[in-house]
Amino acid sequence: MNRVLILGGGFGGIAAAHRLKQKLGNEVEVILVDRDPYFMVGFRKSWALTGESTLEAGQKPIERLSRHGVDVMRGMIESMDPREKSAVIDGKEIKADALIVALGAELNPSVVPGFAEHAYNVYGPKDIPHAEKALSEFKGGRLVIGIFGGPYKCPPAPLEMAMLIRAKFKKNGVTASIEVFTPQPVTLPILSQASCDAVEGRLNEVGIHTFGHHKALSVEAGEVVFEKRRMGFDLLLGIPPHRASKVVRESGLIGESGWVHIDPRTCETSFDGVYAIGDTTHVPLANKKALPKAGLFAELMGETVAERLADIFTGKEPTAQFSGEGGCYFEVGNGEAMMIKGNFLSESGPLIELTNPSKEYYDQKVKFETDRWARWFG
Ligand SMILES: Cc1cc2nc3c(=O)[nH]c(=O)nc-3n(C[C@H](O)[C@H](O)[C@H](O)COP(=O)(O)OP(=O)(O)OC[C@H]3O[C@@H](n4cnc5c(N)ncnc54)[C@H](O)[C@@H]3O)c2cc1C
Repeated sequence: MNRVLILGGGFGGIAAAHRLKQKLGNEVEVILVDRDPYFMVGFRKSWALTGESTLEAGQKPIERLSRHGVDVMRGMIESMDPREKSAVIDGKEIKADALIVALGAELNPSVVPGFAEHAYNVYGPKDIPHAEKALSEFKGGRLVIGIFGGPYKCPPAPLEMAMLIRAKFKKNGVTASIEVFTPQPVTLPILSQASCDAVEGRLNEVGIHTFGHHKALSVEAGEVVFEKRRMGFDLLLGIPPHRASKVVRESGLIGESGWVHIDPRTCETSFDGVYAIGDTTHVPLANKKALPKAGLFAELMGETVAERLADIFTGKEPTAQFSGEGGCYFEVGNGEAMMIKGNFLSESGPLIELTNPSKEYYDQKVKFETDRWARWFG
């Protein structure tokens, strides 16, 4: 029987494991490895930060995938060898007929001097309860949300956090300026200038000011240091620089972008039988920008690889391809959300639309989570 080893049980890994079992049932052995016992959608972090919910309320045990026939293994992946399609997990080597690398992106706050001492890492689950407490106790003043590097997960998420915090402050009668800085020229470079202007205009309307071309060099007590200026803050919420996980960096799979380069349609790496999906990959678009790191894309890539492997294992020509179609929700408060969506892999350049905010998109966002819970863990 063919064995597929899936490294990482987040969006991409789970989707691949689930689809493989759906297609092949007992005809395939699927081993899914993760160091964490739970799956959680990324936007739970925004809700936990603003005190709308807790992280725990959004966690589902990965072990439940065993109901679908997946062998779920909890452990630390120490290394992998793409030539051998193998990995070492807690000292034990596992070999497979196909390897799917779905290890996401690692947060790297230590490259910014002063970040750990002076900023709350709002992408790190351990820091979020502390950040939530600091926000709840914030009596007013200057709140800064800093994007300390790119690419980072879910590009609209820091802006979503700003909008939700603004709504929370309004409700609690807290007077504060909110500023968001980014090293990129604009807040959402994947959008057209007109759509970017629309987003930044909407932020401005509620007193959220954005600063592009702001690459932070370090953080000191009460100040972020840039090359040409300093920005004061009373409370600093930071999105740390991201990088590929250590195991991936040491595997020989990394391309010059610092991420795994794949065939965008098939997710094949340069090693036979080795695939990479989701946040660990770099997918260039026709306009030279990169595919945003989003759970939906990780999931679609995982399903594509599963479909292809199912065909290969049953002697058929694989035809499934990653469409690059989808998007990310951008919650704006008052129970409304916008969506940034479209065909990112269009050959003439990404065809991306920014929708107006609506209750319908907010409801879709909530359903995005509950649908996956039902499908994977029900
Ligand atoms: C605030 C926020 C909001 C977001 N909102 C959205 C949204 O609205 N829509 C959307 O589509 N996306 C959203 N995202 C992005 C989404 O969460 C990620 O893009 C998605 O999780 C990527 O999936 P992945 O499978 O590539 O990686 P992950 O889901 O990160 O999974 C990687 C897994 O690998 C495991 N792992 C890593 N290294 C090791 C190791 N050495 N040993 C064992 N296990 C290991 C990790 O524990 C993890 O479970 C958001 C993200 C954030 C932070």
